[in-house]
Amino acid sequence: MEISKDHPRYRSLVTRERMSELVREGVVAPTGLIAHGRGEAFDYLLGERTVPAANHAARAAAAYLLEAESPVITVNGNAAGLCAEGLISLARAVPARLEVNLFHRSPERVERVCRYLENAGASDLLGREQDAWLEGIASDRARCAVDGIRAADVVLIPLEDGDRAAALAAAGKVVLAIDLNPLSRTAVAAKVAVVDELTRAVPNIERHLIELRDLPDERRRLIAEFSNEQNLERMRNAMCETLHQKG
Ligand code: ATP
Repeated sequence: MEISKDHPRYRSLVTRERMSELVREGVVAPTGLIAHGRGEAFDYLLGERTVPAANHAARAAAAYLLEAESPVITVNGNAAGLCAEGLISLARAVPARLEVNLFHRSPERVERVCRYLENAGASDLLGREQDAWLEGIASDRARCAVDGIRAADVVLIPLEDGDRAAALAAAGKVVLAIDLNPLSRTAVAAKVAVVDELTRAVPNIERHLIELRDLPDERRRLIAEFSNEQNLERMRNAMCETLHQKG
């Protein structure tokens, strides 16, 4: 479909076209489009920009990633489709392992998502073999890699579902989420929820990471002072302000 660059929602329309192509290629699950639409609605309420509270959360997430001993970044079909290069670059910068972890898991889809990431430059991916289990989840989604999520102390979960986010937190991991819905169970279960669109949040976390690399005291201060509850409240307020302005 031809999309005019003058269209006010050009970027969003191009992304939608790309996501539906990726459904045809088997990288994104059909229900992934619905999750994407939910994200778009919340982003509308943010004015499709990184608001100060989201930027603050991104800085705290960067601090946690740098302080981690075994950090892992999980990748599902939507995250790969939207932001493969950004996630690969962030993983290199930390450095952290990338683990493919799908909600709708089949060996074929895992392979497709892994290949998609490898074509974008990823190496040393985890997720083809998922030989460990997370406690607290009854389904197949409990599966994870023994050298990845299972061993991790800090896990960045872009676009994860609430059950897994809660199970990761219950397993004692520091959960860093990227999720545009400040009310989601994922955002609430996280130690740090970055309520921002994935393709803005990931490079922003990397930018903070580079700034914080030689600032250990600043990192520890950010971690000690960050309150996810307060930050989510600021995010909800930011969304309410947009609604009031337009009303
Ligand atoms: P819960 O965490 O309570 O299970 P949920 O049911 O909303 O919440 P899912 O539908 O599994 O969770 O995941 C979709 C989530 O990802 C939504 O909260 C949506 O706002 C968020 N999301 C979708 N696309 C993006 C994006 N591009 N950037 C950031 N967040 C996004």
